[in-house]
Amino acid sequence: MKSQHFSRHEFACSCGCGFDTVDAETLAVLEDVREHFATPVVVTSGCRCPTYNARVGGAEHSQHKLGRAADIQVQGVDPGEVHRYLVSQYPGQYGIGSYNTFTHVDTRSNGPARW
Ligand SMILES: [Zn+2]
Ligand SMILES: [Zn+2]
Repeated sequence: MKSQHFSRHEFACSCGCGFDTVDAETLAVLEDVREHFATPVVVTSGCRCPTYNARVGGAEHSQHKLGRAADIQVQGVDPGEVHRYLVSQYPGQYGIGSYNTFTHVDTRSNGPARW
Protein backbone atom coordinates (compact mmCIF):
# COMPACT_ATOMS: atom_id res chain seq x y z
CA MET A 1 0.00 0.00 0.00
CA LYS A 2 1.34 3.39 -0.94
CA SER A 3 0.81 6.05 1.66
CA GLN A 4 2.95 8.91 2.75
CA HIS A 5 1.64 9.28 6.27
CA PHE A 6 0.04 5.98 7.26
CA SER A 7 1.20 2.44 7.87
CA ARG A 8 -0.89 -0.64 7.49
CA HIS A 9 -0.48 -1.61 11.15
CA GLU A 10 -2.31 1.57 12.17
CA PHE A 11 -5.47 0.06 10.69
CA ALA A 12 -5.12 -3.40 12.26
CA CYS A 13 -8.11 -4.84 14.09
CA SER A 14 -7.67 -4.22 17.81
CA CYS A 15 -8.45 -7.84 18.72
CA GLY A 16 -5.11 -9.00 17.38
CA CYS A 17 -6.52 -11.16 14.56
CA GLY A 18 -4.27 -9.47 12.00
CA PHE A 19 -6.98 -8.01 9.75
CA ASP A 20 -5.43 -4.80 8.44
CA THR A 21 -6.43 -4.61 4.77
CA VAL A 22 -7.45 -0.98 4.52
CA ASP A 23 -9.17 0.20 1.36
CA ALA A 24 -7.11 2.46 -0.94
CA GLU A 25 -9.89 5.03 -1.33
CA THR A 26 -10.29 5.31 2.44
CA LEU A 27 -6.56 5.80 2.73
CA ALA A 28 -6.67 8.58 0.14
CA VAL A 29 -9.31 10.42 2.18
CA LEU A 30 -7.13 10.20 5.28
CA GLU A 31 -4.15 11.52 3.34
CA ASP A 32 -6.34 14.42 2.25
CA VAL A 33 -7.26 15.17 5.87
CA ARG A 34 -3.61 14.93 6.88
CA GLU A 35 -2.59 17.38 4.15
CA HIS A 36 -5.44 19.81 4.83
CA PHE A 37 -4.83 20.17 8.56
CA ALA A 38 -1.07 19.63 8.29
CA THR A 39 -1.00 17.74 11.56
CA PRO A 40 -0.84 14.02 12.48
CA VAL A 41 -3.99 11.92 12.13
CA VAL A 42 -4.45 9.12 14.66
CA VAL A 43 -6.58 6.13 13.64
CA THR A 44 -8.45 5.01 16.78
CA SER A 45 -10.32 2.24 14.95
CA GLY A 46 -9.76 0.99 11.42
CA CYS A 47 -10.40 -2.58 10.33
CA ARG A 48 -12.63 -4.78 12.48
CA CYS A 49 -13.25 -8.49 12.15
CA PRO A 50 -16.87 -9.55 12.74
CA THR A 51 -16.07 -10.76 16.26
CA TYR A 52 -14.40 -7.53 17.34
CA ASN A 53 -17.02 -5.37 15.65
CA ALA A 54 -19.74 -7.15 17.63
CA ARG A 55 -17.75 -6.80 20.84
CA VAL A 56 -17.52 -3.00 20.48
CA GLY A 57 -21.18 -2.72 19.51
CA GLY A 58 -20.53 -1.81 15.87
CA ALA A 59 -23.33 -1.84 13.31
CA GLU A 60 -23.90 -5.21 11.65
CA HIS A 61 -23.08 -3.81 8.22
CA SER A 62 -20.34 -1.53 9.48
CA GLN A 63 -17.87 -0.37 6.85
CA HIS A 64 -15.16 -1.10 9.44
CA LYS A 65 -15.72 -4.80 8.68
CA LEU A 66 -14.87 -4.12 5.02
CA GLY A 67 -11.72 -2.15 5.76
CA ARG A 68 -13.40 0.93 4.29
CA ALA A 69 -13.83 2.95 7.48
CA ALA A 70 -11.65 4.77 9.97
CA ASP A 71 -12.33 6.58 13.22
CA ILE A 72 -9.82 9.39 13.41
CA GLN A 73 -8.49 12.05 15.73
CA VAL A 74 -6.66 14.94 14.13
CA GLN A 75 -4.07 16.24 16.57
CA GLY A 76 -5.07 19.61 18.01
CA VAL A 77 -8.24 19.87 15.90
CA ASP A 78 -11.80 19.66 17.24
CA PRO A 79 -13.65 16.58 15.90
CA GLY A 80 -16.49 18.86 14.82
CA GLU A 81 -14.13 20.79 12.59
CA VAL A 82 -12.86 17.56 11.02
CA HIS A 83 -16.47 16.53 10.39
CA ARG A 84 -17.28 19.86 8.75
CA TYR A 85 -14.25 19.61 6.51
CA LEU A 86 -15.11 16.10 5.32
CA VAL A 87 -18.75 17.01 4.64
CA SER A 88 -17.70 20.02 2.56
CA GLN A 89 -14.91 18.17 0.79
CA TYR A 90 -16.96 15.10 -0.19
CA PRO A 91 -20.50 16.28 -0.90
CA GLY A 92 -22.98 13.60 -1.88
CA GLN A 93 -20.78 10.65 -1.05
CA TYR A 94 -19.25 8.52 1.70
CA GLY A 95 -20.26 8.02 5.32
CA ILE A 96 -19.24 10.73 7.78
CA GLY A 97 -20.14 10.53 11.45
CA SER A 98 -19.69 12.90 14.36
CA TYR A 99 -18.67 11.76 17.84
CA ASN A 100 -17.44 13.61 20.91
CA THR A 101 -13.82 12.52 20.68
CA PHE A 102 -13.35 11.36 17.09
CA THR A 103 -14.74 11.50 13.56
CA HIS A 104 -15.85 8.48 11.54
CA VAL A 105 -15.30 8.39 7.80
CA ASP A 106 -15.96 5.57 5.35
CA THR A 107 -15.96 5.26 1.58
CA ARG A 108 -19.21 3.31 1.18
CA SER A 109 -20.42 3.11 -2.40
CA ASN A 110 -24.09 3.56 -1.48
CA GLY A 111 -23.65 6.91 0.25
CA PRO A 112 -23.99 9.53 1.33
CA ALA A 113 -24.65 8.86 5.00
CA ARG A 114 -24.32 11.58 7.63
CA TRP A 115 -24.64 11.47 11.39
ZN1 LIG B 1 -10.10 -8.94 14.85
ZN1 LIG C 1 -16.35 4.29 12.75
